[in-house]
Amino acid sequence: MLAGRTTTEELLAYLVAFDTTSRNSNLELIAFVRDYLAAFGIESVVVPSEAGDKASLFATIGPSGVGGVCLSGHSDVVPVDGQPWTSDPFTLTPKDDRLYGRGSCDMKGFIAACLAMVPDMAAGRLSTPIHLLVSYDEEVGCTGVVPAVRRLGVDLPLPRACIVGEPTSMRVVDAHKSGIAYVTTVTGREAHSSMPQLGANAIFAAAELVGELDRYRAELVAAGDPSGRFDPPNTTVQVTVIQGGTAGNIVPRDCAIRWNVRGLPGFDEDALLDRFERFGREVVLPKLRETAPEAAITTDFIYKVPPLAPQTGSEAELLALRLAGQNRTYTVAYGTEGGHFQAQGISTIVCGPGSIDQAHKPDEFIEVAQLRACERFLKGLIAECAG
Ligand SMILES: [Zn+2]
Repeated sequence: MLAGRTTTEELLAYLVAFDTTSRNSNLELIAFVRDYLAAFGIESVVVPSEAGDKASLFATIGPSGVGGVCLSGHSDVVPVDGQPWTSDPFTLTPKDDRLYGRGSCDMKGFIAACLAMVPDMAAGRLSTPIHLLVSYDEEVGCTGVVPAVRRLGVDLPLPRACIVGEPTSMRVVDAHKSGIAYVTTVTGREAHSSMPQLGANAIFAAAELVGELDRYRAELVAAGDPSGRFDPPNTTVQVTVIQGGTAGNIVPRDCAIRWNVRGLPGFDEDALLDRFERFGREVVLPKLRETAPEAAITTDFIYKVPPLAPQTGSEAELLALRLAGQNRTYTVAYGTEGGHFQAQGISTIVCGPGSIDQAHKPDEFIEVAQLRACERFLKGLIAECAG
């Protein structure tokens, strides 16, 4: 095990070496973090996934029972499959002033910087606690953090503020859209395509549903973004995958469409879903049931990432702006775990090292200067929490 002080770069090399692609277990990485913290006398709470093959880790440095600031990062990374890397993605590779490796930027760099500061946190006689949360399954819908977040304020401390260290180039981000993905499945009835009156064509039905989604899309473009903060300046609706049919001479029984909504903060996704399901029930389904009483249309969630709503003057915002030495906040196009913390009543912003431009790409890297900036930010936080 590591003893004494370990640098951010050394810790990042360890973290990158764990292949925590979202489809894999992250338990070895979690054990590494738990053992590292234990070496400083810090206890961790490990929150396992339902299947038990993954886990989040929550740890508190400083006094218990008094709010504090949570630093949160996800341990999983996106796949490298099919990407043309010029170095081993799971070996941190320094070159010029950059460190290459999968997750170096998104977002093991932030976790490494937090861990490197643990000796200072432990020695800092904090009067305000600093909590660390390392999650999983962020890259597949921000779902892995939820079981741990639900325990904050229940049997784990409720932080007063949360900083999610996604790569923002250390800018303070206070807003992003929600992201909800659905799959709608249409079931009709098969028949020879010369005798369509004996079947119920699931693709025709799905096409009507797609047309309805396209009407929502156009309405939302017209409604725009009153806040003027988002790009594109509206809630978006997209159909992303359509699958149906089996052969050129068979009336198709099955068709599935995947679609998603990225909502401005405050957008009522449930109302949109209600409207869509009513359209299916009242307009599309009766036609299928003329010939196929067993026909059905069902819509299920794939994932739901809540939006991050700007909370001007919030504790997290003021703290992060002070520590980052900045005076304005930003909006990002991607979703984060931040909305889950906000939904739990915790003032939350997103701020972390590295640029989102490098995330998810072959030859992902983080600039060493970004890690130094993150360390300065964290040193400032430790000073404030000790004061
Ligand atoms: Zn990320």
